Amino acid sequence: MVEPCIKVDQLRVIYNKGKSNEVRSLDGVSVEIYPEEYIIIYGPSGCGKSTLLYGISGLQAPTYGDVIVQGKNLAQMTKREKVEFHQTRIGMVFQAFYLIETLTVLDNVCLPKVFRGESLKERREKAMELLRRFGISEQADKFPAQLSGGQKQRVSIARALVNNPEIILADEPVGNLDSESAQNVLDIFREINGIDKKTLIMVTHNPEHLVYADRIIHMKDGKKVSEEVNHDKRPAEALRKDVAETPEEISSELKLLMRTFKNLSLQQVGVLLVPFKAKQMLSHIISELNEEQIGAAENLLKEFLFKNIDSETLSDKLDLDFDKGGAGWNRLRAMSFTDRAKMIMAQTEFLNNDETGGIVAFCDYLVKLYNLKFDEEVLLRFRAFIKLRVENRIDRFGLQQRLDAPKKLGGVGLYKGSAEKVVREVELIMLLRYSA
Ligand code: ADP
Ligand code: MG
Repeated sequence: MVEPCIKVDQLRVIYNKGKSNEVRSLDGVSVEIYPEEYIIIYGPSGCGKSTLLYGISGLQAPTYGDVIVQGKNLAQMTKREKVEFHQTRIGMVFQAFYLIETLTVLDNVCLPKVFRGESLKERREKAMELLRRFGISEQADKFPAQLSGGQKQRVSIARALVNNPEIILADEPVGNLDSESAQNVLDIFREINGIDKKTLIMVTHNPEHLVYADRIIHMKDGKKVSEEVNHDKRPAEALRKDVAETPEEISSELKLLMRTFKNLSLQQVGVLLVPFKAKQMLSHIISELNEEQIGAAENLLKEFLFKNIDSETLSDKLDLDFDKGGAGWNRLRAMSFTDRAKMIMAQTEFLNNDETGGIVAFCDYLVKLYNLKFDEEVLLRFRAFIKLRVENRIDRFGLQQRLDAPKKLGGVGLYKGSAEKVVREVELIMLLRYSA
């Protein structure tokens, strides 16, 4: 299961606490950030953006609340751990650059490496590589005062990256730059996130920047007022946790796909949907394997959905070790997973071949799978509701409500949990049979 790499829990930062000039810079902010996300913290001047960023970096201690980065509570770190944390786990970029004027560009970039016990040659090589990458290798021997603002910011980004931290924090990094240099720095950030896969948190008050982020934390008066999602990179479990904020994840995503692909043939859409189907099917069936095992299995499932491999090969490859091209599961899990996948696929074919007779068989399957106990009358109702959903005459909420509602009110009277499980299964099978 993918854990958030940053967890801010009810963070409060209060200056001059108890005095007449008390300022609540942060007033109970909670945020969870997952690996590889590009987050923007957005809001008007003075709303607490920098305070939140410095809270995450450990530069600002909480008055109340917790900040946990990569599983470590910052408040419980020893001094030594904190130093290590700043050198290797996070890189910081500031609006005002904070370069050391008496050191050359190259030495400024090398600086975070000085304490890491590497040879001078190694340090300089890594630093030069970054300077070349950002198009400033010719400035290596110059001093910061000889550079333009945009060049200075690229130097400070190189410095932030030199120890290869997983997380980059940037406080208004283009606030002092002309528009061309600003664009250049924004492009670099996008690359650091998209290609280098760094988790990136950028503070800005400029609405034009928001399109770059996967997720935007909107702040006002020391509080988080809302979150806005552009691309969701969070794992499925994280989304399930805040169902209230993102209801109907699968269907809305599917709806979007439908809209996007409306000019394509059914067959083309079918092909485009396969990776998405593989993902949904996987997160539906599995919840406790590590990322690597899941990633490998997802690829195998794609092959299976594309019909490049049969169920036997799927089962064998899931079981096989990584270094032999497998997913590194075990025999038992591989077999039971394959059986489940086969069962699900069989339902989709059933529904596709003969809808009316198919519905009865499909309902029998659901009854058996979830061990549902119905009397004759309720079973008929159950079938009718499933049919309505399969024919798309009600949506998933409509189905859930009908399954959940008490018998005497015309429902099926399932427990909420069972109703949810049935609905999820039905939704998955509907997705899979779409132009399958
Ligand atoms: P932003 O980055 O969104 O502009 P900040 O996080 O810098 O906002 O500041 C939030 C609030 O906390 C502001 O009202 C600011 O004046 C106040 N503040 C920040 N630092 C201090 C400090 N050291 N002492 C007192 N008040 C502070
Ligand atoms: Mg600020």
